[in-house]
Amino acid sequence: MDISVVVPLFNEEESLPELHAWIKRVMEANGFTYEIIFCNDGSKDRSWDVIEQLAKDNPEVHGIKFRRNYGKSPALFHGFDMAQGDVVITMDADLQDSPDEIPELYRMIKEEGYDLVSGYKQKRYDPLSKTLPTKLFNATARKVSGIKNLHDFNCGLKAYKLDVVKNIEVYGEMHRYIPYLAKNAGFNKIGEKVVHHQARKYGKTKFGLNRFVNGYLDLLSLWFLSAFGAQPMHVFGFVGSLMFALGFIAALIVGFYKLICMWNGNNPGLVTDSPYFYISLTTMLIGTQLFLAGFLGDMISRNSAERNTYKVEKTI
Ligand code: UDP
Ligand code: MG
Repeated sequence: MDISVVVPLFNEEESLPELHAWIKRVMEANGFTYEIIFCNDGSKDRSWDVIEQLAKDNPEVHGIKFRRNYGKSPALFHGFDMAQGDVVITMDADLQDSPDEIPELYRMIKEEGYDLVSGYKQKRYDPLSKTLPTKLFNATARKVSGIKNLHDFNCGLKAYKLDVVKNIEVYGEMHRYIPYLAKNAGFNKIGEKVVHHQARKYGKTKFGLNRFVNGYLDLLSLWFLSAFGAQPMHVFGFVGSLMFALGFIAALIVGFYKLICMWNGNNPGLVTDSPYFYISLTTMLIGTQLFLAGFLGDMISRNSAERNTYKVEKTI
């Protein structure tokens, strides 16, 4: 099979028939063999009935129904699990992404050898309150992930080699960082294609402004995991030891100062009168805590079931 189209959706009953007809038109015009996997993320409207009807009339339509709303990432996760096409395309269900982009995305994966091609909504039809923070968000994501050529990490329209989706695990709200997940899994040829974007035709957006706060926190933990996840001791142990050493030296200085003063016959006062005493005490305490955090982290990662799971590409 050439293409699997994975569509995560939550309350999109009005868009589905139109989206399906459009995808079908594009696929047939290009002679692709394909499947469409609708991932119904606990919709409360009639979305599932619509999908069932579509599946009845069209053998290429498949669907998964979550019992409740889990989020876009879990929906994608299950879609990826089911996908079988050589190239996997994800797109939003709200008709903001155009199926007309599919043939070119397919060609870039197949012929130009990209592992992942992300859409870039250069001209967006979203309110300013969304487009402005998005620019900032993407700049940060570029810096942190080291994928310098992407302008639109969170674009719903993306194309993947089948291998990529089978080797990444999209969880929580990590759908915003799939290119970063792919890079961490060892897929380096990541490209971009400018795509058309349209205003939402039916319904309204499913994400509020907290997307930006959560997005940053997720990026932070993803960065931390990829940098130190396997060796927490390397960061906590280092910073902890450094702080402890600083505190220890400061304590020595405070102590020697007192001794020297006494030697010279001056009254040095109490050690606790010096602010440096408290600074050294605090740094030593925090240093020990950090060291312990690193040690505990290491013990946990050493006992985790994942500790010897690697992505093997080939063996002969
Ligand atoms: N979506 C989902 N589960 C959710 C929220 C959203 O499956 O909990 C789907 C939604 O139906 C749409 C896609 O994710 O197909 C993108 O959502 P939306 O269009 O609301 O996001 P925006 O375009 O505003 O970024
Ligand atoms: Mg949308």
